Amino acid sequence: MLTIGCHLSSSKGYLAMGKEARKINANTFQFFTRNPRGGSVKALDLKDVEEYLSYAREQGIRQILAHAPYTLNACSADEGLRAFAKNTMADDLLRLEHIPGSCYNFHPGSHVKQGAEAGISLIADALNEILKPEQHTTVLLETMAGKGSEVGRTFEELREILDRVTLSDHMGVCLDTCHVWDGGYDIVNHLDDVVKEFDQVIGLGRLKAIHLNDSKNPLGAHKDRHEKIGQGYIGKEALIRVINHPMLKDLPFYLETPNELDGYKAEIALLRENYRENGR
Ligand code: FE
Ligand code: FE
Ligand code: ZN
Repeated sequence: MLTIGCHLSSSKGYLAMGKEARKINANTFQFFTRNPRGGSVKALDLKDVEEYLSYAREQGIRQILAHAPYTLNACSADEGLRAFAKNTMADDLLRLEHIPGSCYNFHPGSHVKQGAEAGISLIADALNEILKPEQHTTVLLETMAGKGSEVGRTFEELREILDRVTLSDHMGVCLDTCHVWDGGYDIVNHLDDVVKEFDQVIGLGRLKAIHLNDSKNPLGAHKDRHEKIGQGYIGKEALIRVINHPMLKDLPFYLETPNELDGYKAEIALLRENYRENGR
């Protein structure tokens, strides 16, 4: 069965997100762990978590994806900003222990003028401080579009980060279709080659989630502007090939398209209609 969901607002808690997901026929979802621009966060409501966990079990909601605030920069040249990113991520991971088996996605960061190499080592250092052997959450590096000085535009950069993380069993990658397209990977005409390249450079075993987005920009634009499924440069047919690719089809897919709930519902229905179950 296709595992698909979309980005939901976390302001009303986990149970509310679970119910919203089921309303649009999603069986997973993504959410920001806290205000994407700010840092503060309410105390975790343990009753809400407990109610969510039993609802998720009963409704067949699978592994969910928490997204770190996108303003964090674990490879900032500023030590204070790096510390802020580390503290926030460590706190998010502690809270996620209440929902074991989830994934936690973050943007590797922007090296600004330090160079990619310096950025990569700062990101790995941060992860080496944050990760705990006993944790039950897998931390995902997101593939980036290469806007400005973003680290993680190439599979090689992500591989380098993973290579330097000691507890790398707790690490994986989330592939964003808009970002890789904007980053120059032609998933429209050469999906098989891109999947093969990912496997050779990073290893498909590391791939834990896919952000399924169309793009407002052409291949290699380095822009990162998501578009609705079928309304951008990637197009509906190519995205349907992504969800049906034999090496990808069992992964969870998350829509981050510019939509309200009805729009997400329609996209999920479209993708479910065009998904081929295994063995058929
Ligand atoms: Fe993201
Ligand atoms: Fe994304
Ligand atoms: Zn994006």
